[in-house]
Amino acid sequence: MKQKPGIRVPTPTATPKKLFVRNTKRCGELIEIAFLHKAADMGFAVTKPYGDSEAYDFIVDAGNRLWRVQVKSGSSMVGQAYNVVAHHHRIGKKTKISYTPEQIDILAAYVVPLKVWYIIPVRAFTPHIALFLFPHLPGHNGKYEQFREAWHLLACLRGGELKEGIVTVPGCAYCPASGKVCPGCVWK
Ligand SMILES: [Zn+2]
Repeated sequence: MKQKPGIRVPTPTATPKKLFVRNTKRCGELIEIAFLHKAADMGFAVTKPYGDSEAYDFIVDAGNRLWRVQVKSGSSMVGQAYNVVAHHHRIGKKTKISYTPEQIDILAAYVVPLKVWYIIPVRAFTPHIALFLFPHLPGHNGKYEQFREAWHLLACLRGGELKEGIVTVPGCAYCPASGKVCPGCVWK
């Protein structure tokens, strides 16, 4: 049987030439799957909305609230920073527009070469449409570095108990163990 194009199964004698299928849509799908796996593995219930008309890619259920999450990724550098583009277009228009708190709660930005996630509340970056990230420079004081792998921000304790089985540390000021603020608390 002929193999479907794009399938690459490594064999002991051959190393795949490319780590990623070079197709933008397919890459986007793989990154969504990576997000889904990571969030589900932490105990969140993850739902995909029907259709493609919403600004968010997933709804993440923490038990005490739902988060609308848009997933974006970037592979290239601008100067010293990895660049993740965080905008969308109005239907039929070319103008780039930022996401707003009316549309999404969280941007999950993935730096592909380093396999690093940034979990960024929408109010921390809007109205900017380009994020500059420094996952390769530990301790960098870039604006978004506080959100590097900040999965605990989805575990806000405001509004009640988390869903049973969520393993990320609660990100909320209510949690004395973290001492961190979370999007559920800080901008209310
Ligand atoms: Zn909170």
